[in-house]
Amino acid sequence: MTSELGWLPSVDRVLREPAAQLLAARAGHDVAAAAIRRALDAVRLDGGQEEDRDALARLIAQRGLAEDQPVLRPVLNATGVIVHTNLGRAPLPVEAVDAVQRVARGYANLELDLTTGQRGSRQDALEPLLRELTGAEAGIAVTNNAAALVLSVAALAAGREVVVSRGQLVEIGDGFRIAELVATSGARLVEVGSTNRTTLADYERAIGPETALLLRVHPSNFRVVGFTDEVAIVELAALGRDRGVAVLDDVGSGLLLPDQLFAGEPAVRPSVEAGATITCFSGDKLLGGPQAGLIVGRAAQVAAIRRHPLARAVRIGKLATAALEATLRLHRDPVHARASIPVLRMAHEPLAAVRDRATRIADAVGGTVVETEARIGGGALPTLAIASAACALVDPHGMLAASLRSGAIVVVGRTKDGVLLLDARTLDDADVDLVVAAVLAASAR
Ligand SMILES: *Cc1c(COP(=O)(O)O)cnc(C)c1O
Repeated sequence: MTSELGWLPSVDRVLREPAAQLLAARAGHDVAAAAIRRALDAVRLDGGQEEDRDALARLIAQRGLAEDQPVLRPVLNATGVIVHTNLGRAPLPVEAVDAVQRVARGYANLELDLTTGQRGSRQDALEPLLRELTGAEAGIAVTNNAAALVLSVAALAAGREVVVSRGQLVEIGDGFRIAELVATSGARLVEVGSTNRTTLADYERAIGPETALLLRVHPSNFRVVGFTDEVAIVELAALGRDRGVAVLDDVGSGLLLPDQLFAGEPAVRPSVEAGATITCFSGDKLLGGPQAGLIVGRAAQVAAIRRHPLARAVRIGKLATAALEATLRLHRDPVHARASIPVLRMAHEPLAAVRDRATRIADAVGGTVVETEARIGGGALPTLAIASAACALVDPHGMLAASLRSGAIVVVGRTKDGVLLLDARTLDDADVDLVVAAVLAASAR
């Protein structure tokens, strides 16, 4: 585009502005020049309102700097959904953030045994904790639970048959189906029972010389209610033991121990105690740590899983290992875990404290406090509503919600019948002032 509008400053002129210098120092001269060219084009399209050439150069430099934002940014979660997959699931405990920080900038003994000076395994930081917390003989961590499932099935059942209940062939979100995941591991799926009822006899009849695995998948994000029957993991494990077939239990959310608040959500330790050969779960749902998939169970089968070539393809990274070790250490004391792991703390926080936060926000921005229902999210306990409170703001056309998504401080709430709800259960006390500032700025725009 040619500059027929003579009032526009040149790229070189704008590059001398402090904001452009900052951008050049941060991203390099070429990136800064390109951003300024885009900002100049935008101003050219808008037409000129600014008379003063120096002020215009400053404005264009600031636009160039503002445009150079990373796409991934922090968000204040005011949705009331605790494990929000679109918002990055579990916020990390400070101990985990510190652990990441300690190893992120430099080197770490990720695969070095400091006592012998010989090569170690990144699993050494995690396996003793996984054993202690779950009661299993062995355990490893991989990139996520979907990988844990595919890897386990590939290692234990490739080329052979996996028996699974039709009621558990669910889609875990975003179009990913358990059946298709399992198929990629090279095992043949044998479906038994019906959508609402599967009995032990159904599994028994399906077991033959080709059967390698009985698979149980917790149908996390959906519930079949009414005339239903599923085989308990204790019974399935006993059947597997009798017939010499391994049992894989995908419990999903990573709740370690049964918890009254999460009644009905299968926990890891009972699965191991029931005799599942392998139990797998996510790191960033109710476990409250980084994205990871955990595989625990019998030593021989975990060893086979560790040796499988796919294990290298889904290897957990240094930063996730650090965050996971710190999170697992907090779980050694369940009371301490509840106080220090954000997802557990948020779920268990008394309503009065949540309402107090909602009230502080509402008083400052002129909203009203309303009772709401918070959710666990992440596919866990879809029918569980946790009593919560929100600041409600009239927003008939969603303008305020949109403005809050595009501000310097990003706040995401949920809109219902023309009302924007900022749920305080998923906010921190320290977030209150930020939410208030964001709402005031968004209303002013
Ligand atoms: C969430 C979930 C998965 C997928 O776990 P990711 O960690 O997201 O890969 C698999 N199975 C069950 C039962 C789940 O709930």
